Amino acid sequence: MGQERISHISEPQFIYNEHLPRLLSTPHYTAYVKVAEGCDNRCAYCAIPDIRGKFRSRPIESIEVEVKNLVAKGVKEVILIAQDTTRYGLDLYGKYSLDILLNRLGKVTGLRWIRIMYCYPNRFTNELIDIIAETPTICKYIDLPIQHASDKILSAMGRPVNQEQIRSLVKDLRKKIPGVVLRTSFIVGFPGESENDFQELLAFMKEMKFDRAGVFTYSQEEGTPAATMTDQISDDVKQERYHRAMSLQKDIALAHNQARIGQVLEVLVEELVEGSRNIYIGRSSLDAPEIDGTVEFSSPRELSVGDIVKVTINRALEYDLMGELAQ
Ligand code: SF4
Repeated sequence: MGQERISHISEPQFIYNEHLPRLLSTPHYTAYVKVAEGCDNRCAYCAIPDIRGKFRSRPIESIEVEVKNLVAKGVKEVILIAQDTTRYGLDLYGKYSLDILLNRLGKVTGLRWIRIMYCYPNRFTNELIDIIAETPTICKYIDLPIQHASDKILSAMGRPVNQEQIRSLVKDLRKKIPGVVLRTSFIVGFPGESENDFQELLAFMKEMKFDRAGVFTYSQEEGTPAATMTDQISDDVKQERYHRAMSLQKDIALAHNQARIGQVLEVLVEELVEGSRNIYIGRSSLDAPEIDGTVEFSSPRELSVGDIVKVTINRALEYDLMGELAQ
């Protein structure tokens, strides 16, 4: 039993629409678009459902108008976000509708990249997989936070998905979306996580070889059921597990990056390296801003920030790639 959750005087209802002015805090070529607010999940470590209220989707038309307005202002990449993006539409249309939204956004002229963040593993429909595979402007990049791989810990976390279901989804995604890059995140040191549970997570990481993974140490969030669980893990053990998981993921990430040598990637130019005349830093369609790596490359011609160009990769580090403008 957890402690009582935070209660509100009134539940948050607000969700923005396409008529509200948008001030872009991101560079002029990228924009985050919130497709829904709130969350109906009950992850035992998270206070967001209490703070943000129930999951509520924005209508497809509202999102489409906003995206068209952004593109008219020069945005080339939209990043669709929500607390649980794959639930999109269930409250409004009675069924998961992210595929329908993507189908509409895939037809917006001038929009080059559509990126989807925060997908919940057990709401990935076949229609969603198909639309990602078939639509050229949808980045073949899926952010799929799974948090753990031990069924015992997943259940204690209140995540209604087990290791076998995650394994089968990952295989399906890789089979049906060739070349897809999978990002995930893990929490280590959740209450009750034994050395065996942690070993199970490491084994799963080795088996699944996620292209990217963020590892976080569990922290007690006030008002959540997990905060009062009695079998909390010491900070030393959390840190030690964090370093072991990170070190494993580093090797996996490096191997993935090395496999890119010789490939040609679409890269969005983000800056000219200070003091250079022809070295640029950009981000490929397989990298999200802030959390993933960059591509540093030389170009015989002048480029502008916001251009999308093709780059041949010729060197790989753990997180970043290097290359030259493809002819
Ligand atoms: S972790 Fe994410 S999916 Fe889980 S309750 Fe919090 S916001 Fe919802």
